[in-house]
Amino acid sequence: MEARVGLNVRITVSDLKWNMAKEVYATAEPELKKELSQIAQQIVAPGRGILAADESTATIGKRFTDINVENTEENRKAYRQLLFTAPKDVISQHVSGVILFHETLYQKADDGTPFVKLLQERNILPGIKVDKGVVPLFGTQDECTTQGLDDLQARCVQYKKDGCHFAKWRCVLKITKDTPSKLAILENANVLARYASICQSARIVPIVEPEILPDGDHDLARCQQVTEEVLAAVYKALSDHKVYLEGTLLKPNMVTPGQSCPKRAKPEEIAAATVTALLRTVPPAVPGITFLSGGQSEEEASVNLDAINKYPLKKPWALTFSYGRALQASVLRAWAGKKDQIGAAQDELIKRAKANAAACQGKYVTGSVSSKAGDASLFVKSHAY
Ligand code: 13P
Repeated sequence: MEARVGLNVRITVSDLKWNMAKEVYATAEPELKKELSQIAQQIVAPGRGILAADESTATIGKRFTDINVENTEENRKAYRQLLFTAPKDVISQHVSGVILFHETLYQKADDGTPFVKLLQERNILPGIKVDKGVVPLFGTQDECTTQGLDDLQARCVQYKKDGCHFAKWRCVLKITKDTPSKLAILENANVLARYASICQSARIVPIVEPEILPDGDHDLARCQQVTEEVLAAVYKALSDHKVYLEGTLLKPNMVTPGQSCPKRAKPEEIAAATVTALLRTVPPAVPGITFLSGGQSEEEASVNLDAINKYPLKKPWALTFSYGRALQASVLRAWAGKKDQIGAAQDELIKRAKANAAACQGKYVTGSVSSKAGDASLFVKSHAY
């Protein structure tokens, strides 16, 4: 018996059996599309967003230094356990996905429960950071690209087996008088598209993250112009690579003035610039936009997300959070490595998760949630993850 499948080649019944059990797809066949779009939609369901807990060992080390905690595997495990054992019914309402670092994916709680299981019990999808960090882009003015493509397909197949349904890959672009260069824009767009296509072939939803750093004294208009240019290139590359947009999410920066720009912008101005840039560049087929917090304080990140959702233009995608620093700064402060502070630290996580869950529906009341680090700036120069 013969049948025709995606690639339009004749295959036999025994081939077909293999095809059904396959781990890697050659084309986006209907069952693959359905699976990817269901995952993406689950992540951006109303009132839910992502906790980015995928700090590399070096980056979590910097966070621990701030609270005088030693960067050991045991302490990293204790901290992530604190996050993932937050009260089930509350956290599952507001958090739909957690991005993990490789080490964390394979760790277990003190009672032997794998972290992945803790998340599944909370109806939270595990995700994984799959990029291997930024490297210099030779011939540019201190610009970079992101590495990690070589063995990506095999890693994605394994991560899917181990419970991950989505992935993150971060590219970094810098605003100066002469940057981002055309080369950096094109190279980063292409590497993001290649990553996205590999993830989808392994049944993993790619979160596409072209982060434009807030470093610099540029104004709001310049950030908007660069954001539009970068996103337009990203969506051209995704189209060229035949990425199935309904099975992707975008993780962009909000459009803000540079960190050292003397003219600050109001939340309504940030919302107008951000929504306008996105409307001009991101196709409506994309189910959701999950913002990074990018050094904003916890409160700013909630207020700006709220303003974006309240902005009176028709927005075809869900607009929610995928915050690292803006969901964890108060948690880290409250915990400070002390066992007897775990409950207090979890309360901080719940408070910010609730605030952002309200913000992603345009229902946050400014100042209504007070946190330990609520207004503290979380800006890190030339931020690495
Ligand atoms: P911040 O929210 O701390 O910017 O980080 C989110 C993230 O995942 C960056 O890659």
